[in-house]
Amino acid sequence: MFGPVPGSELAEIFNELGCELANASASGELVGMAPLDPSTGPLCLAIDGEIFPPGTEKTWSHYPGDCCCYLWPVAWTRPMLNPEGRLVELNRLANGDNGEEVLPYSVPAEKWLRANPRTAKVILGDDIGNEFLGKTIPGLPPLPPLTLKMAAERWDALVAEPVRKYEQLSAEGAALYKLRDDPGMLSASIEKFEGCIELLDFAISGYRELGKRGILDGIWHPPWGAPFKQLAIIYEKQGRIADAVWVCACAQKAGWGGDWDRRIPKLKRKLSSLGGSA
Ligand SMILES: [Zn+2]
Repeated sequence: MFGPVPGSELAEIFNELGCELANASASGELVGMAPLDPSTGPLCLAIDGEIFPPGTEKTWSHYPGDCCCYLWPVAWTRPMLNPEGRLVELNRLANGDNGEEVLPYSVPAEKWLRANPRTAKVILGDDIGNEFLGKTIPGLPPLPPLTLKMAAERWDALVAEPVRKYEQLSAEGAALYKLRDDPGMLSASIEKFEGCIELLDFAISGYRELGKRGILDGIWHPPWGAPFKQLAIIYEKQGRIADAVWVCACAQKAGWGGDWDRRIPKLKRKLSSLGGSA
C-alpha cells in the first residue's frame, strides 16, 4: 500500500501521526526518527534519537533530496509489555554495509553508522566519513573521531552549503536579469552571476559529493552551467569579449554543461576581428 508513496510524503504521514500519538501519550515527548539508510542525509541522520519537548513541530530543513525523517512519540520507541507481561524491545529496519537488518530502537544512529563504515562514507563522503570513523592520516597525530552531529555540521558547511548558495545566486541572478531594463537590475544580476563563479570550486566539489551519493543523476548537468552562459552573453553584449571567453573557459574547464565548444571559438573570432586576443 505504501509502494508508490514518495518517501517525503510517507514521512509527513508518520510525522502527523507521531505528533497526534505523542499528544495522547503520558509524557508527550517526541523523538527524531531518521531511516538508517545510505540515502538519508547527514543532517536528518544527526537528529535521529534526539528528544524534543511536547508540542514540537518539525521545522528543520532537509538536504538533500526527499525528507524521510519524522517526529515520533518517545513512548513508542521504548520497550513495551507484551500480553504475557514481558518487556519487549521494539525494532526497526536498518540498511547498512551488509544489507537489511533489524535493530532495536535503543541502538542509536551514531553507533549503527560506526558499525557500517562503508555506509558512513556514502552518507558523509570519504573525507568527513574518515574523520567520523577516526581514521588516522599517515604522518599526522591521531585526532579524536568526530561525533555524528559534528560530522553532519561539517558536511553541511563543506558540501551542502556551497551547492545551496550556488543555486540561490543562480536563481536570483536569473530573476534580476529578467528585470534588466529597470535601473540597477542588470548590474545586480551580474553581481549574482559573478558570485557563482567565485563559488565555482566549492560548488563543484559539493556537486561531486552529492553525485557520489547517487542522489543526483550526474554531476555535470546542463542547467548548472546556466549562470555562466548568461554571464557570457551579458559580457558579449557589453563588448567585454575577452571576459566572455574567460567565463566560458571557466565553465568548460569545470565540465559544466553548455555549448562552450561552439561559443568559445565564435567569441575568439569576434575578438580577433576587433584586434584583441584572449
Ligand atoms: Zn529529513
